[in-house]
Amino acid sequence: MRDWDSIGTGPSEPHMIPASPHAAQPEDWRRQYRDAITDARILLAELGLEHLAARIAPDAAGFPLRVTRAFLARMRHGDPDDPLLRQVLPLDEETRVVPGFGLDAVGDLAARDARGVLHKYEGRALLVATGSCAVNCRYCFRRHFPYGEEAAAANGWREALDWLRSNPDIDEVLLSGGDPLALSTPKLAEFTDTLRTIGHVRRLRIHSRLPVALPARIDAALLDWLDALPWPTVLVIHANHAQELADDVAAACTALARHGVRLYNQSVLLRGVNDSVDVLKTLSERLFELGVQPYYLHQLDRVAGTAHFEVPDAHALALYEQLRARLPGYLLPRLVREMQGMPAKMPLQGTS
Ligand SMILES: *Cc1c(COP(=O)(O)O)cnc(C)c1O
Ligand code: SF4
Repeated sequence: MRDWDSIGTGPSEPHMIPASPHAAQPEDWRRQYRDAITDARILLAELGLEHLAARIAPDAAGFPLRVTRAFLARMRHGDPDDPLLRQVLPLDEETRVVPGFGLDAVGDLAARDARGVLHKYEGRALLVATGSCAVNCRYCFRRHFPYGEEAAAANGWREALDWLRSNPDIDEVLLSGGDPLALSTPKLAEFTDTLRTIGHVRRLRIHSRLPVALPARIDAALLDWLDALPWPTVLVIHANHAQELADDVAAACTALARHGVRLYNQSVLLRGVNDSVDVLKTLSERLFELGVQPYYLHQLDRVAGTAHFEVPDAHALALYEQLRARLPGYLLPRLVREMQGMPAKMPLQGTS
């Protein structure tokens, strides 16, 4: 972590770090987080798409609409098929009941070992740190997860830390969610201050969409916290389309990399968003420009309300073979599916 400091934590940091402590309040990202749009009519009015209101699911199908202004700013005005809009707009297709699409598609409840702790894979424990996210993605595989009872950050992280302490085979801790960076920096530090006393933990991984959905989250206080961590730290961001990776996202990624964080990206293959070879190729190329390594391209988890996003396996595999032929190997994400009971995310095989 610290060994990269010398290459640039100097005065020329990206612009989201205030030059003077008064130029922006340290809690600025929290205000932006709170000010996210939660009303479909406002979102559609901003985009000049009022006529889509008739297609919105009542009650947002039980999973509220939520999108930050930063994410909205990258959408195309007047385009009902905008790939970013599709990711956040609760269309009435979500209320369709489709056989095979359930509430717990990936067996999260069976993998729960303590409050907020999911243990599926050898050596790695995933903490569902909190239930909230800056952007609610309509295809989210945890959209039905009982976050109320299951946030690891509740009670000062005590149950999760006790579990980690008593499981010496765990050498990597993943902070996931919800979005762990939706927690305040002091709340994250409360966790890592105790985690550092657990000797068998050797790597920390953070899965967060905030560098994309709310790049202001990557502020000076967060970078200070990252600097002080004793472990190599991996941050897996989540972007599905190059249009999400605007200049503010690039600046956040540059800052993270300069502070020694290793950056990866995971995407979900989504009909109408990124189910095209050109879109996937451009996404990988743009990630490379940002210093982010493409990691996973997930086949959709079959969660109720998401069926209209599914790309059939045969089509997914055909797209992937074309992508393989058009990208250098190091820019090719792994096309995987999560299968309950398997020891890892599995490469997609042609079946259906
Ligand atoms: C996906 C996942 C991980 C991480 O898997 P990697 O293949 O190491 O990225 C760990 N724990 C759980 C519960 C997961 O779902
Ligand atoms: S940011 Fe991640 S956890 Fe949150 S809604 Fe989107 S996919 Fe789900």
